[in-house]
Amino acid sequence: MPRGPHYDHERAQASTTAELRAAGITTMHVYCQRIGCGHEAVIATDRFPDWLTTDQYASRLRCSRCGARRPEVRRDMLAHYASAHAETGWGMGSAGPLPASYKVVGRDLPWPDRQE
Ligand SMILES: [Zn+2]
Repeated sequence: MPRGPHYDHERAQASTTAELRAAGITTMHVYCQRIGCGHEAVIATDRFPDWLTTDQYASRLRCSRCGARRPEVRRDMLAHYASAHAETGWGMGSAGPLPASYKVVGRDLPWPDRQE
């Protein structure tokens, strides 16, 4: 069985904002790792400098619900599946158009205040 295009991005490698944009990626999925919170959000990576790498994003982020620092940053698989679906009609499991609930912080929603 051929491997789907999602395998390439399963393990988040450190890419810069510019490299992500060149690959058509402008969002990342962020998870709060504090036990009992688990807040997650999709963020617009356009807010970051071109040279910043994905593994450096976490140090610039803070959970908008509980204030915890260094959330886990992952690929935005929902957007990835949606673009794969739109471009090739490839679809499996969760692949498909983006759900109505999909919102991007920094694009559809205000960017949370950063208090350093
Ligand atoms: Zn949190």
